Amino acid sequence: MHPENQAPTSSPQEVLRAFREFARTTLLGHDAEFDSGAEPPLELYQPLHKMGLLNWWLPTEYGGAGLGLADSVDIVSELAYADAGSAFTLLISILSSSMVSLYGSPELKEEFLTAMTRDGGYSAALGSEREAGSELINLTTTLTRRGDNVVLNGEKMFSTNSGFADYLVVFAKSAGEREKAASYHAVLVPRGTPGAQVVKRWDMIGLRSAGTYQVSFADCVVPRGNVLNGPGLKIIEVGLNSSRILIGAIALGVARRIRDVCLDYAITKPLAGHTLIENAVFASKLGQMEMQIEVMRNQCLTAAREYDDVMAMADPPAEFLRRGALRSALTTKMFCGQTGWQIATVGSEMFGGLGYTTDLPISKYLRDIRAVTIVEAGDDVLRELVFRRFVLPPNRRI
Ligand SMILES: Cc1cc2nc3c(=O)[nH]c(=O)nc-3n(C[C@H](O)[C@H](O)[C@H](O)COP(=O)(O)OP(=O)(O)OC[C@H]3O[C@@H](n4cnc5c(N)ncnc54)[C@H](O)[C@@H]3O)c2cc1C
Repeated sequence: MHPENQAPTSSPQEVLRAFREFARTTLLGHDAEFDSGAEPPLELYQPLHKMGLLNWWLPTEYGGAGLGLADSVDIVSELAYADAGSAFTLLISILSSSMVSLYGSPELKEEFLTAMTRDGGYSAALGSEREAGSELINLTTTLTRRGDNVVLNGEKMFSTNSGFADYLVVFAKSAGEREKAASYHAVLVPRGTPGAQVVKRWDMIGLRSAGTYQVSFADCVVPRGNVLNGPGLKIIEVGLNSSRILIGAIALGVARRIRDVCLDYAITKPLAGHTLIENAVFASKLGQMEMQIEVMRNQCLTAAREYDDVMAMADPPAEFLRRGALRSALTTKMFCGQTGWQIATVGSEMFGGLGYTTDLPISKYLRDIRAVTIVEAGDDVLRELVFRRFVLPPNRRI
């Protein structure tokens, strides 16, 4: 915890309680404002910084709270229960900062991770391009070496948090490398570097309190030391392990919220001389939802524990490079995204015609949860990856 911040709590249970309290008192009940498409409400998240809990996963050696991924599952679920867009804004820096933490030079880590905990900043990852979203091997942003610097040129289609992030981790390709894997790089670009420019903020249909931006790079020069150590495509696979698991936890939180609004509605909805809550079909639907929610949470926790186990090994950067994408992280995002979508469908039907209007928040939850199977590679691509890496006989795996 950075010394300037209040040390709120020590145990993960107390931290979770602090997040739950924050989510319920600051975020919950403001669906319409969060859904308005206004600028990301960063000032609302300041209390987390004051408690030393913004970017709660950052290592203690850089002033962070150092929480593990298993502790993060319920934190994200609580945040997403109140507002999925806020949960997305708050967790997505884990993708870029964990890549810096694992593969950045000691100087980069000291400068940028310490600043994040001291100042309460955000970071962003920029992989996707018009022709390279799920399949980053197609990216066209170029990296050119110039003396002690590297120069970036290209256009990044989608990047969450980059409109206000303190640093960007940009994926680019250099020409002339003999080995293909060595031609992809992850480069840290500090905020305000000339040549890096936000083109626009996308008007998304869900997660509308988050900010996702298109960013261009025109002769953007950064020191060579800002290039992370290791093959870029592997580095992003590793980084995506943590964010994919926590994006699964967004679906978990939204699904819990849908269950609860359905329950509230059923208590008052008149039906054939009774109320909906007394109806056996309703009971069956909510029983099914509870089963799905329980399994989503268990899957998130299993994957998060596997991640934490690797982080506890002697050399996590090397072990992660060896493993790449964890099967459990891939299946968590897919399973939670698909199951969350099923829950949202049942939930939206529950409210009849009103469920199809914007008068009720269920439409927001449906749009929010839609993102889970799209961001960080769509399900078609992940299914193929799971097949190639984990289903094919070992001698045929790619
Ligand atoms: C809210 C939001 C936030 C985002 N934030 C970020 C961010 O911070 N950083 C970042 O880099 N990106 C970000 N993205 C981009 C996101 O990761 C990509 O949109 C996603 O990976 C899908 O890639 P794509 O858009 O290129 O679509 P594609 O992958 O091109 O998908 C389009 C269609 O092609 C199909 N398809 C593609 N490949 C295959 C295949 N191999 N086999 C079969 N079918 C295939 C898909 O199933 C789909 O039907 C964000 C996107 C959203 C919506």
